Amino acid sequence: MLVGTAALHENETNPWLSAEARFDAAATRLGLDDGICKVLRSPSREITVHIPVVLDDGRIEVFTGYRVQHNIARGPAKGGIRYAPDVTLDEVRALASWMTWKCAVVNIPFGGGKGGVICDPPLMSQSELERITRRYTAEIIDFIGPERDVPAPDMNTNEQTMAWIMDTYSMHQRHTTTAVVTGKPLNLGGSRGRPEATGRGCLIVTQQALRRFGLDPSNTRVVVQGFGNVGGMAAKLMARAGFKIICVIEYDGAVYNKNGLDIPALMEHRKETGSITGFPEGEAIDREQALFLECEVLLPAAKENVITSANADRLRCKILCEGANGPVTHVADAILQDKKIFVIPDILANAGGVTVSYFEWVQDRQGYFWNEQLVNGRLEEIMVNSFRDVVGYADKHEVNNRIAAYMLALDRVAFAIKLRGIYA
Ligand code: NAD
Repeated sequence: MLVGTAALHENETNPWLSAEARFDAAATRLGLDDGICKVLRSPSREITVHIPVVLDDGRIEVFTGYRVQHNIARGPAKGGIRYAPDVTLDEVRALASWMTWKCAVVNIPFGGGKGGVICDPPLMSQSELERITRRYTAEIIDFIGPERDVPAPDMNTNEQTMAWIMDTYSMHQRHTTTAVVTGKPLNLGGSRGRPEATGRGCLIVTQQALRRFGLDPSNTRVVVQGFGNVGGMAAKLMARAGFKIICVIEYDGAVYNKNGLDIPALMEHRKETGSITGFPEGEAIDREQALFLECEVLLPAAKENVITSANADRLRCKILCEGANGPVTHVADAILQDKKIFVIPDILANAGGVTVSYFEWVQDRQGYFWNEQLVNGRLEEIMVNSFRDVVGYADKHEVNNRIAAYMLALDRVAFAIKLRGIYA
């Protein structure tokens, strides 16, 4: 049993407790009725599966996987599947609820879901990953589908994983069903613009925030944590839009250039060497300290719980754009508010990904594919409107942006539940 500060730390970094704390704050401000609160707060379905897999050396191993469908009042559940050794049901639950709120914030017709399998992909071969993916899909097959629950990639899963899920599902249906997952390869029903979508969404909402502060991209210094899909794409697009990306932080080091890093060259360097470290056009700096560099925009795009009550008071950014899910703990929220940091909360900032996933699902069902200009234009319209809705709500109700985003989302989902009624 954990005692004292260890227990407090575990409570602070438990994503489900963070999700509940924000939910409670928003529900109280909205004055939501008790019964609706109970419905909104509980995940509607939690599936645990134990997945037997024959490893390459002939041994049989059993992996544990989850799929949580938090709420489906506004449409099919939607959300990624992550593979990691530290996946927990609480984490998947929190991520599923964030998907419900995220889809409601950007007003797309999906509910929230999330999945996870406890495994360590860097230690597994491609064929082991394929077998684990196919068997996990078979175990949850009755609960997914274009009208039920539509998975997507998340940490350590990718286009290939989605292709395997789509194929397994299609084999069972006896016909090709591309709309069962999003984030697929382009020539298997994927959407143009999907790989860049989350990073592009971060760029769009950050540009909106800059306008609010009268800042110009050329004077805007950005620190990016995590140089993967979200952080890498955001850095690339922001640099292209004239921002100065002064620092990129990865798990094994950080590189700094006060005049702005050459992001395509850094990507090339990482491709060649496997790491951002040793980049000749940047200075190596301490990765723990890099988060506290003075900058206009800090973009955490790696993982949960990087900004906590232990370090939030050391941040020196004006705008915090949450590319990752849950990078700030609920206890740190109050510190950021006191410091008057303008937070673009995850359920808005990284919603570009699920928005283009929605476009992918629509295109698969139409059997007609859009060009990239159309995808990006529609994404921009949704992100700009959603930013305006959230910030307008925050100003009107005198709450911070995060609570405003939750209030907006809870209100929309509660409205759908009331209209549908409780089936008995
Ligand atoms: P990714 O695996 O492509 O990239 C994550 C990067 O962060 C990797 O390069 C990894 O090395 C780095 N990293 C890991 N731990 C780190 C640490 N302690 N310090 C610095 N860097 C670290 O994953 P992704 O798809 O970019 O997702 C990142 C976050 O964004 C996750 O929270 C995910 O849930 C969220 N997200 C992703 C999408 C999407 O479309 N990919 C959409 C919405 C939210």
